[in-house]
Amino acid sequence: MSNQKSREIRLKSRPNGAPVAENFKLVETDVPAPGPGQVLVRNAYMTVDPYMRGRMMDRKSYVPPFQVGEVLQGGAVGQVVASNAAHLKVGDYVQSMNGWREWFVDNGGAVTKFEPKPGQMQAYLGALGMPGLTAYVGLLKIGELKDGERVFVSAASGAVGQIVCQIAKAKGCYVVGSVGSDEKAAYLKEIGVDQVINYKKAGDLNAAVADAFPDGIDVYFDNVGGSHLQAAIGRMRQWGRIAACGAIEQYNATAPVPGPNNLMLVVGMSLTIRGFIVSNSFDMLGQFHADMAKWVAEGKMTWRETIVDGIENAPKAFMGLFTGDNFGKMLVRVGPDKAV
Ligand code: NDP
Repeated sequence: MSNQKSREIRLKSRPNGAPVAENFKLVETDVPAPGPGQVLVRNAYMTVDPYMRGRMMDRKSYVPPFQVGEVLQGGAVGQVVASNAAHLKVGDYVQSMNGWREWFVDNGGAVTKFEPKPGQMQAYLGALGMPGLTAYVGLLKIGELKDGERVFVSAASGAVGQIVCQIAKAKGCYVVGSVGSDEKAAYLKEIGVDQVINYKKAGDLNAAVADAFPDGIDVYFDNVGGSHLQAAIGRMRQWGRIAACGAIEQYNATAPVPGPNNLMLVVGMSLTIRGFIVSNSFDMLGQFHADMAKWVAEGKMTWRETIVDGIENAPKAFMGLFTGDNFGKMLVRVGPDKAV
């Protein structure tokens, strides 16, 4: 046993509807000294993501549920502060799925070394990590985007959405984003999005989407589901594609949610609706990083992050995803950028 303490967030109870503070518990633990072949890691940032809401339910899915009483899991980046592993040295930056805690000991097998640019470590949990890859895979592989097409994006200023919008702009597309505030709408305009719908003010979303797309939609990148999906289906062009990425509108629903009432248009307009899980496309990571580097160098790609301080505030950051508290990627700083 070392003298090192770590704080972690455990699932205290399963949310019923929107998650609340009482569903989480902050616990202090003793961190063991690393044994042979093991490393001690201090996390700097952890991510909170909408998919974690699904893991809080006791149901079968593409990832196993979190267990009540146990520490939560998720992406994190940090630094090795003690090492007995040949392939990792003190000071190495590592990514892991050991988020929701400040420190951890690993046998070296479940952490991946990476070399972030100064000040960009946390971007590997956002624009340069899983959410960025989700945008890339969803738009280009699943949505089969072609240059110059007309693209609709929901939750468009979020971690995934902001990257979707900019990839589509880099491909010369006409892009319309939907967001929940005027500040988010202004940000999307700044990064070149052609038109923005504030869905909280739009009134009739079907009419707002129809107005924004006089010539119809070729690709709809669906982060929200529900009313956004229905509005998009109603405006798709023939042979249009819908990349079904998520349905955050219904993640906290306590009863089955009605589906779109216009699904017959899928037949009539020869539409494709295709869901995907990003982890099935990790083979595209190299290509994604190469394209992102090019777009960044060309000034076509930027991103925003909302950073909440302190592991004790991680539940609040997570809950904020469902009330639109985040601009771009929602992250929690749980330690210093440089631990050694
Ligand atoms: P975001 O960073 O976009 O955060 C969530 C945002 O969703 C909020 O900021 C809010 O923005 C918006 N939102 C919340 N509730 C509603 C609602 N009821 N109606 C409309 N908008 C809402 O999250 P991510 O970018 O990480 O994730 C976006 C989507 O992508 C999610 O559905 C997620 O589950 C999915 N996803 C899927 C993956 C896959 O492999 N298929 C991988 C990663 C993410 P606003 O203020 O604009 O309302």
